[in-house]
Amino acid sequence: MSIIRYTVDAGIAWLTLNNPPLNALSHELRQGIVTALDKALADPKVRAIVLAGNDRAFSSGADIKEFSGNAFYAEPFLPAVCDIVEASFKPVVAAISGACMGGGLELALGCHYRVALADAKISFPEVKLGLIPGAGGTQRFPRLVGLETAINMIVSGATMPAAAFKGAALFDVIVAKDGETADLAGATRKFALSIIDKPIRRVRGLEVKHPQAEAFVQFARQGVASVARGLAAPLRALDAVAASVNQKFDSGIATEQKIFGELMVSDESKALRHAFFAERAASKVRGLDDKTAQRKIASVAVVGAGTMGGGIAMNFVNAGVPVTLLEARQDALDRGLAGIRKNYEGAVVKGKMKPEDAAKRVAMITPSLDFSAAKNADLVIEAVFEDLNVKKDVFKRLDAVAKRGAILATNTSTLDVDRIAAFTKRPGDVLGLHFFSPANIMRLLEVVRAKKTRPDVLATAMSVARKIGKTAVVSGVCDGFIGNRMINAYSQQALLMLEEGASPQQVDKAIEKFGFAMGPFRMSDLAGNDISWHIRKRHYAEHPRQRPLRIADRVCELGRFGQKTGLGWYRYEPGKRDALPDPVVDGIIAEERKALKIAPRKIPDAEIVDRLLFALVNEGARILDEGIAQRASDIDVVYLTGYGFPVHRGGPMFHASRVGLKAVLRRMKEFAANPHAEPGFWKPAKLIVQLAAEGKTFDDTPGHGSMTKGSMKKKGGRRG
Ligand code: NAD
Repeated sequence: MSIIRYTVDAGIAWLTLNNPPLNALSHELRQGIVTALDKALADPKVRAIVLAGNDRAFSSGADIKEFSGNAFYAEPFLPAVCDIVEASFKPVVAAISGACMGGGLELALGCHYRVALADAKISFPEVKLGLIPGAGGTQRFPRLVGLETAINMIVSGATMPAAAFKGAALFDVIVAKDGETADLAGATRKFALSIIDKPIRRVRGLEVKHPQAEAFVQFARQGVASVARGLAAPLRALDAVAASVNQKFDSGIATEQKIFGELMVSDESKALRHAFFAERAASKVRGLDDKTAQRKIASVAVVGAGTMGGGIAMNFVNAGVPVTLLEARQDALDRGLAGIRKNYEGAVVKGKMKPEDAAKRVAMITPSLDFSAAKNADLVIEAVFEDLNVKKDVFKRLDAVAKRGAILATNTSTLDVDRIAAFTKRPGDVLGLHFFSPANIMRLLEVVRAKKTRPDVLATAMSVARKIGKTAVVSGVCDGFIGNRMINAYSQQALLMLEEGASPQQVDKAIEKFGFAMGPFRMSDLAGNDISWHIRKRHYAEHPRQRPLRIADRVCELGRFGQKTGLGWYRYEPGKRDALPDPVVDGIIAEERKALKIAPRKIPDAEIVDRLLFALVNEGARILDEGIAQRASDIDVVYLTGYGFPVHRGGPMFHASRVGLKAVLRRMKEFAANPHAEPGFWKPAKLIVQLAAEGKTFDDTPGHGSMTKGSMKKKGGRRG
């Protein structure tokens, strides 16, 4: 099948892009467009030309798989294609349906006219990959929609329906639905016939009109800077759009090209592109394929209406799946439901939800104290206390009442899912679904594959995750799974640095400057210091030789559990979120240093950052070595979506690969030589030693989601 379908009808040449599913502008498609255009220009019977896509997309833009090779820049390069289309001496009309994004939108802007379905999706998503539109979009778009709209859309990457541009020059015709159908082809044909023989209007010949352009750009710059969180692309996008008012068209294009080129090779864009591919790769699970059977999930039961259970239930009703909410005690059930109601009411107050929708969702939750209410559920998710005996009791009871084929999931953070599965007579139907708090908001879901979890159970869990809008990453069974096992090493370093001379504020500030949303102490105050205390106490019992981390224990012994108690590592004033230093904590730290006979030293910020990050990386590499994670990029996804790792750094494994594994090893050796280092902590993971010796990075490990070094070519997980 040809990449362009070429037909001529009533003097109109139809060039239909045929690169399914979304008409990505690959090198082959770009060539096809130019060749077909030449053919239409050479045919005297052709008097107008239409560029059209398919129902799903006019075009979703550049083929970003080409970013890593030469094909992206191969001739005809997309900016040239847009110019060639614009230079056509016969009128060219874009017929736009579905996604019209990025490079696809730029191609449409190169056309002389545009006819769009009202629900076509219009966007410039480039900033999300650390880029700006690079094929004339920053210059042509403002000429058609005005400066303000152009800045808003290009800087944010937001998607708008074509209908939102009614009245702007962007679309010559917006085709609304007539009943169930909309006749895009008919409307385009009619329009094309109407402009034959009329003078051609080229976007480059228009001017951007704004009464106070300079002042507006200045104003926008302040706004963008305050929300860009250190990212370069949004401000550079603004620079490029500004060139559309203060420079001539061709010089504006040169400015856009220059900025695009700089961003394309920036670490920020590489990291964001890595994150994009990593998320895609995470959805592919070793041992599963499209043919793996799936179970139907039409109803869900959640056991435990506490912090997690309530949020988990909301995920499902938000996706239209009714939930039975089970509790042991009426007061806990009432509290849980009240929390859910309050949450929805908050959304109504903020104008994010209609009151009737909020009421509908609450009504989709059926509360009960009777476990037999779970008998019809297709999926049961347990979120009771983190205590193996309580879990045992719950799973035995669920095993007795749940219907055959129901999936039984645990939300445990640290307990052994294999043991939990063994409490039932159907371990193949059991797995972990580890949500993050707040469960209705956090995107990450660790799907924990136990030894006996059946493939169809795992495959079903992955699609359930998609249905409720989560980013799922598969983890094997180990203490803490991928995310918490690594964070444990990270927190341990944070606490050791307090003993050695740092303050909680210094540690938090240093890693926040690196880009983390929150440092370890502010984070712990938010999550509740009692959670990690509970885990530490279990670790002390299981590993009697482990040295207790007394500073953290003493903070908890005082009941300083964080924001919820008003005191933690910091103190909090009522109604305020500011974390204020507290002399009580400083006192505890000073006493413990004395008890440990440590003379405090000034720890450089660079050491703080590296110790925290490389603790993550070393544990991450062990997790890969053990096959707990399928690929290095899955670990990055866990950290980017669940732990506030700065997205422009691409995740811990990606970051380590940029630093270089030899350099990482050298640094870990330095840390190991510290007289206060925990014995064995900095013993490098075998995988790091091996990769460093071969001059490789995590990018070279199989199945890695990054497009760097061509690793996209390798399919499948690390271990098959
Ligand atoms: P929670 O204490 O807020 O809620 C637990 C609820 O379970 C309580 O309402 C309790 O009444 C109920 N419950 C206890 N025994 C029960 C039984 N036999 N039958 C029915 N209900 C029972 O706890 P949580 O923070 O929501 O944690 C729940 C689970 O989720 C734990 O396994 C925890 O490790 C895990 N988890 C917690 C977080 C977090 O940040 N809080 C994050 C991820 C996972």
